[in-house]
Amino acid sequence: MHFRWKIYICVSFLAILGVSGCYTPPTSKPMTAVKPRETTVSTVRPHKKAEPYIASRLDHYFVRDWRYIVIHHSATASGSAAEFDRYHREKRGWENGLGYHFVIGNGNGTPDGEIEIGNRWIDQINGAHAGMEEYNHYGIGICLVGDFNQSRPTAAQMASLSELVEYLQNRCHITSENVIMHRHCRQTDCPGRNFPYYKLLANTSRF
Ligand SMILES: [Zn+2]
Repeated sequence: MHFRWKIYICVSFLAILGVSGCYTPPTSKPMTAVKPRETTVSTVRPHKKAEPYIASRLDHYFVRDWRYIVIHHSATASGSAAEFDRYHREKRGWENGLGYHFVIGNGNGTPDGEIEIGNRWIDQINGAHAGMEEYNHYGIGICLVGDFNQSRPTAAQMASLSELVEYLQNRCHITSENVIMHRHCRQTDCPGRNFPYYKLLANTSRF
């Protein structure tokens, strides 16, 4: 009799587990993160079909005459567009805030691989990232969160960067030779000695 009860209790427990135990409902996170008084930032979270998805989020912005794409790292372990925006406004005194056009998160501050669109891209205004007039005026500044002298970009960051660079090259007619690292135009080690530049070029458009 006792044995039967044990079996009954076990079966009931398994049945309950089967119904409710292991299923986690999918969470849907907001696609936009606008921080009033800081910067106008919306986000793109690439997934399996990233390229058309990026296009669907960026196609409606008017673009002006861009000639370069300049890649940076933040030289910090964590960060986000909002954080850099605050720093650029408060410490650098830049009234247009965030000096980059795009920021790609590494999971510390924003989700890994998330692309944040800065207000300088939305408004199509000069960046403040290169330290050289020519490259601030004509260069699209993309900053990957991380210190790539100490670590490497995550796989998700590189996937997002490739998709974004490819999209921007096609949209703005930017040649591969004009997809550059910050250190190509100025005396700096940015974006860090571990940044895989040739891997990026291998994964983006050639023209
Ligand atoms: Zn830089």
